[in-house]
Amino acid sequence: MVDGPLYGALEAGGTKFMCVVGRSPQDVVDEKRIETTDPQSTLGKVVAFFEPHCRAGRLSAIGVGSFGPLDLDEASPTYGQITTTPKPGWQNADLLGSLRAGLGLPVVLDTDVNAAALGEYTWGAGVGLRALMYLTVGTGIGGAFLYDGQPLHGMQHSEMGHVRIPRDAADSLFLGACPFHGACFEGLASGPAIEQRLGRRGEDLSDKDAFWNLEADYIASALAIYVVVLSPMRIIVGGGVMHRKFLFPMIRERLLEFLGDYVLDPRILRQTDSYVVPPALGGHSGVYGALGLAARHALHP
Ligand code: ZN
Repeated sequence: MVDGPLYGALEAGGTKFMCVVGRSPQDVVDEKRIETTDPQSTLGKVVAFFEPHCRAGRLSAIGVGSFGPLDLDEASPTYGQITTTPKPGWQNADLLGSLRAGLGLPVVLDTDVNAAALGEYTWGAGVGLRALMYLTVGTGIGGAFLYDGQPLHGMQHSEMGHVRIPRDAADSLFLGACPFHGACFEGLASGPAIEQRLGRRGEDLSDKDAFWNLEADYIASALAIYVVVLSPMRIIVGGGVMHRKFLFPMIRERLLEFLGDYVLDPRILRQTDSYVVPPALGGHSGVYGALGLAARHALHP
């Protein structure tokens, strides 16, 4: 017997779409991984996964955390569409419209990083923290800031990966990999930036490679900006690059150095190990956060 309503969750990423039906990370009743191809066939497979659960009347809402950029302005005629993504075929893909039309259920949409932050706030490394930040460093770089569990939605969603950070003098010849800004944070420190700069994928570098000092410097430089602007109580850093766990102590050390004993609460300063941390939900922060989005919508439509 089913206890209470179930929710659908989708994490829409550049390489895979993760679908889950359940109530929480401990109570998942169905899940599927779908490779990202073109919008029509990818979204068709997503609808086909959720459809039997919808038909059985088991789902009350579906939450979606997606790559972007996204139009999240409900008053906009292109609300719910992916906008200027460099991902071929996905420009102006109507993510929200396709799912709503295909499933006939309330669908709640936010960015992948806002969803991941919500997942960590609800079940992971950020439970109970009034001001929480989540950053992903991987194929792209994106960040989210939650206050009382609510993401910031302003003119659009924030784009924390595209801040400008100080360049290391020894790195000055690299033009940067961001198609919009060249050497912004994402253009300097994302996975593609590592590959363009070194001619080798980050995955192929040894843990001892001197490059990681530069990567830690760039990540800590960006974190120092977020700390002084937003004053988060914890920063969760996920994404493929952060699978190199040795980066965490390097980033913490440089962050303290860049902040110069000025901003952080001394109680936090003594516990930097719990200030900059990996996600507790591993690679599932986003899809579980999407579950949280759906549950929240069902409680407060
Ligand atoms: Zn950029």
